[in-house]
Amino acid sequence: MAETVFSKILRDELPCHRVYEDAHVLAFLDINPISRGHTLVIPREPAERLEELSEEAAAAIGRVLPRIARAVLAATGATDWNLLQNNGRPAHQDVFHVHFHIIPKHADGSGLGVGWKSSKLQDGDTLAKEIAAKL
Ligand code: AMP
Repeated sequence: MAETVFSKILRDELPCHRVYEDAHVLAFLDINPISRGHTLVIPREPAERLEELSEEAAAAIGRVLPRIARAVLAATGATDWNLLQNNGRPAHQDVFHVHFHIIPKHADGSGLGVGWKSSKLQDGDTLAKEIAAKL
């Protein structure tokens, strides 16, 4: 995996505004927040994309995400928020080390804007079976 800005943060070679850390996970404030409290949660394990992450590292993040989210909400006064996780350049990933964004939605409208164009599910039975067969 290529070196990223997050690898440097993990090795303390770059500063960050740290909000949580344990043996597997680090959380810190996003340097260009889209709303107050925008926080990044990353595994210490090096992996570019979520599907490459070990079950242990994924479980370690999953365990602490609700707790970190509660702390972000309590500190900022927000009640609503989004969890964003991008994989791949076309999916808006800029830093190629797995990370989860905790993004509070504030009363002033700041937060994640989602342009969501939905369609009608066409081949649900077939598709669900195809996906299940790959698990
Ligand atoms: P993504 O588009 O999902 O890859 O998001 C990468 C995020 O990392 C962006 O929201 C950046 O603002 C954030 N970011 C990049 N460099 C730093 C840094 N040194 N400290 C904190 N956040 C950063």
